[in-house]
Amino acid sequence: MCGIVGYVGKKRVVPVIIDGLKRLEYRGYDSAGIAVCGNGEGLQIRRAEGKLRNLEEVIRLKPLDGTYGIGHTRWATHGRPTEENAHPHRDCTGRVVVVHNGIIENYVVLKKKLIEEGHKFSTETDTEVIAHLVEKYYLKRSNGSRPSLEEAVRKAVGQLSGVFALAVIAVDEPNKIVAARNGPPAARHSLSHPRSFLSR
Ligand code: GLU
Repeated sequence: MCGIVGYVGKKRVVPVIIDGLKRLEYRGYDSAGIAVCGNGEGLQIRRAEGKLRNLEEVIRLKPLDGTYGIGHTRWATHGRPTEENAHPHRDCTGRVVVVHNGIIENYVVLKKKLIEEGHKFSTETDTEVIAHLVEKYYLKRSNGSRPSLEEAVRKAVGQLSGVFALAVIAVDEPNKIVAARNGPPAARHSLSHPRSFLSR
């Protein structure tokens, strides 16, 4: 069982997310990662195999900062427990990232179709299909307008089968985290700010 943490707010986002992930450590995990945005540098991602202290070391060597972000502890179901397969996972544009708890049962079919449509995959996980599906439904329309991130996530989730919880952030929608679930509820806890949450 992995853990998902998200935070939008005035506090320093990285320590809040790492603290949240530490609280979820008891659930067990094999790798961890974090994506943060909002300081003008696009989406910044750090990931590490093994314990959270490895992720903290990666962050110490290459700090990141922003105003909103998501974090994840992974317990691999699809794909080896490597840094590459650790969440968060990106779409092709690098402007959308996803963390996910659970299993996407129909990911093989979805992945095949997305590859045929031109999407490039870089991990062995079932999770990565979510990032590319959101990308697909988040594209600008011919009139130049674009669906909201919520709309894109809703459409993407409509394609998925399985029991899961997920959280998504995008460069183009600052200070917003879109979360969804199918199955057991994502519990909301106030860590230190009412808009932070943990998924169980
Ligand atoms: N199925 C996903 C993976 O293998 C998520 C596993 C989890 O819940 O940590 O990456």
